[in-house]
Amino acid sequence: MLIRRYVLTALGALLLAAPAPAQERLPVVASFSILGDFVKNVGGDRVAVESLVGPNGNAHVYAPSPNDAKKAADAKLVFVNGLGFEGWLERLVKASGTKAPIVVATQGIKPLERAGGHDHDHGRADPHAWQSVANAKVYVANIRDALIAADPAGKEVYTSNAAAYLAKLDALEREVREVIAKIPADRRRVITSHNAFGYFQDAYGISFTAPQGVSTEAEASAKDVAAIISQIKKQKVPPTTPRPTGNSPPKMLASNLSIYTLQSD
Ligand SMILES: [Zn+2]
Repeated sequence: MLIRRYVLTALGALLLAAPAPAQERLPVVASFSILGDFVKNVGGDRVAVESLVGPNGNAHVYAPSPNDAKKAADAKLVFVNGLGFEGWLERLVKASGTKAPIVVATQGIKPLERAGGHDHDHGRADPHAWQSVANAKVYVANIRDALIAADPAGKEVYTSNAAAYLAKLDALEREVREVIAKIPADRRRVITSHNAFGYFQDAYGISFTAPQGVSTEAEASAKDVAAIISQIKKQKVPPTTPRPTGNSPPKMLASNLSIYTLQSD
């Protein structure tokens, strides 16, 4: 009898500790996987997150599927980056008929102006704001507040998850600064195929050069790539070429340099 009670108590503890079944979690949608990851970290087990553009997709030129429209229709919140990043969002919201509030994660961030003249898309802000840790913390705070508004019963959970994640981001900020401080100032340069690192450059003093603009809608021209190669020769830039997800590295660069892959978007 005593043993049976112990077993039942242990089972009870397990049930309490288990995450809510998927159908009881708050269904939310994030426009792309980096944002979805922030939402997962803050929402924890109370939230079921669907990211529309996956880690190997390209959010700049995405075409939402009927399945995405269904996910948006079922969602209680739709998280987006904003700053013109999701040009396809309005169509999706219309097609899905979703009544979910649209949460703009960059709300309150000071946007950077787009650099360079390579862009063929519209809007003036650089949307890749998550590339500075200070901005990532604003995303996390906005996500926390939106989750609390949609699911007040989870306030404590969201507040403590967000606090833990913000502390991790503070540690990351220190780590990034320590690593960069060890690189000689004249070597703090990176060549990248897609200009997604304006906020990183601004925050940490690494200079990025890209033949392809802030959006990836337009391909880099041969002239742009030639200009980059002559710059590499002149400046002896370290051969690091991050690429956006879903794009292959430019072949002309590949024949001249070793290519490292770094996740951007
Ligand atoms: Zn991008």
